[in-house]
Amino acid sequence: MEDCIFCKIIKGEIPSKKVYENEYVYAFEDIHPVAPVHVLVIPKIHIPSLNDINEDNSKYVSEIFKSIVEITKLKNICNSGYRVISNCGEDGGQVVNHLHFHVLGGKDLGPKLVK
Ligand code: 5GP
Ligand code: ZN
Repeated sequence: MEDCIFCKIIKGEIPSKKVYENEYVYAFEDIHPVAPVHVLVIPKIHIPSLNDINEDNSKYVSEIFKSIVEITKLKNICNSGYRVISNCGEDGGQVVNHLHFHVLGGKDLGPKLVK
């Protein structure tokens, strides 16, 4: 996907602060953090959103969730707790159309899920 900013981040064409990486997954600091820990975890192939997960790309998705736990350990929030969010589509507030999971923590995030 030529004009996808997250594909460009994976290729190193747009700089990012790497938190974690493996064969399937890249994770980096969100440019506008909303919590003391705010990491974005993305697959290394272009999957537009949750709606596009299928049998062929499910390995990337399972690797994302394993990576999330590793990232919470690296960020020292594994035991204190955290929240994982993936916005999908217009009502979901998705801005970047490359599947991504927000990992949020480092403070009490409260109970609020919607505005
Ligand atoms: P969405 O609203 O699509 O779920 O989240 C997109 C996220 O990507 C936002 O939290 C936004 O701050 C982050 N973001 C957008 N562009 C960039 C960028 O160029 N670099 C980084 N590190 N984060 C970005
Ligand atoms: Zn992409």
